[in-house]
Amino acid sequence: MGKTAPTRAIALVRRPDGRGVGSFYIASGGKFQFYTFREIPCEIGGRGFAVHRLGRGTLYHVRVGDPEGDSCECLGFLRWGRCKHTAGLAALAREGAL
Ligand SMILES: [Zn+2]
Repeated sequence: MGKTAPTRAIALVRRPDGRGVGSFYIASGGKFQFYTFREIPCEIGGRGFAVHRLGRGTLYHVRVGDPEGDSCECLGFLRWGRCKHTAGLAALAREGAL
């Protein structure tokens, strides 16, 4: 990801601290959206994150790491069954960034 415009890119801004709190941005079409996140316990498999979009006050609960069960609360996911939040966090987790 990242090199092949105009696709989306995600990058960590701040690695998770001792409480699991960090931040990342998603770049898309020349726009940057910044998010803070906090890892939260996920008892049903995969990894859970509370993701807060800066400047909008929007909070999503995102779950990744289990392809059958990725989930997010945003409208995109509700409509399409996938979204930039699950794709982005899954990519960061695969890279070992989280
Ligand atoms: Zn989403």
